Amino acid sequence: MNKKKILVTGGAGFIGSHLCERLLNEGNEVICLDNFFTGAKSNVVHLLDNPYFELVRHDVTMPFFIEADEIYNLACPASPVHYQYNPIKTIKTSVMGAVNMLGLAKRIKAKILQASTSEVYGDPDIHPQPETYWGNVNPIGSRSCYDEGKRCAESLFVNYHKQNNVKIKIIRIFNTYGPRMHPNDGRVISNFIVQALQNKPITIYGDGKQTRSFQYVDDLVEGMIRMMATGDTVTGPVNIGNPGEFTMLELADKIINMTGSRSKIEFYPLPEDDPIQRKPDIALAKKLLNNWEPEINLENGLQRTIEYFKNTI
Ligand code: NAD
Ligand code: UDP
Repeated sequence: MNKKKILVTGGAGFIGSHLCERLLNEGNEVICLDNFFTGAKSNVVHLLDNPYFELVRHDVTMPFFIEADEIYNLACPASPVHYQYNPIKTIKTSVMGAVNMLGLAKRIKAKILQASTSEVYGDPDIHPQPETYWGNVNPIGSRSCYDEGKRCAESLFVNYHKQNNVKIKIIRIFNTYGPRMHPNDGRVISNFIVQALQNKPITIYGDGKQTRSFQYVDDLVEGMIRMMATGDTVTGPVNIGNPGEFTMLELADKIINMTGSRSKIEFYPLPEDDPIQRKPDIALAKKLLNNWEPEINLENGLQRTIEYFKNTI
């Protein structure tokens, strides 16, 4: 067995904690780096007894030195509420974090994967979104700290590859959900499930006809691992998401039914620059990642996530 030493930045967050778990289960050694801004020790507490797991409190805006074979760069708040809380810090995390991790990858000759986002497409006027689409982002709007930070990080990755031969992998993650989402991070699935379980009003922003395509976290982790395993010529960006597309009204109905909730729907203003539609074109992922495609549909994924929130809130 080929045990690898793998650094996961943002490893104590929602996605990072699932990734660390999977990498350990596959027999690797994992160093989880996090400043606990939106992540928590509780997300990885069940891994702490594993001698091949190390948890390090560190901020990616500061340089970090370690030996590793692979780096997954996930450190960055991901929900609009959290990334808009301190927008300058969000930009620094994306940009300086990428510079620091790419510098490390260059020095130690590690492969490095960037957790980019469907937000690089902004409010898209092409639907579904292929990787060749350049996007429609407002550079001065309230989402720009995240969108432009992630776009700059992609540029840094591509240029470290071209200029310094760093082995890079960029994935663009579409809306992902599952157990260990932060109950108060404001994202739609956690909001609706918590509201439904507490029989509180379901808060729909705008008319609820905007769409998103929701991917269960296990499908994403499988895609990330397959992407990291591709040959050096595969750099991405590659979309990783579930093409099943739903309006927020449909999502609210589903969650109310599945939880047997007495919640009623209430409408609130749509936040600035909130994308009207989003759906990944995953043809490239299928082609490059051994026919990868999502296996868990929205109902199955919601069931698992509802169970998690029932036990935690
Ligand atoms: P999350 O907020 O749960 O995880 C982010 C982690 O990064 C947290 O543990 C946080 O404490 C840590 N972090 C933040 N700033 C840091 C810093 N300066 N230094 C060190 N650690 C820092 O969010 P998530 O949903 O798990 O997202 C993980 C990654 O995936 C992010 O990069 C995000 O942009 C990307 N992504 C997520 C989604 C999604 O739908 N969840 C979609 C697209 C992209
Ligand atoms: N949304 C909503 N009610 C909520 C939270 C979010 O209607 O309580 C909407 C939000 O306006 C957006 C969609 O749900 O149109 C997805 O929001 P989320 O913050 O989960 O992800 P993102 O906008 O980053 O895709």
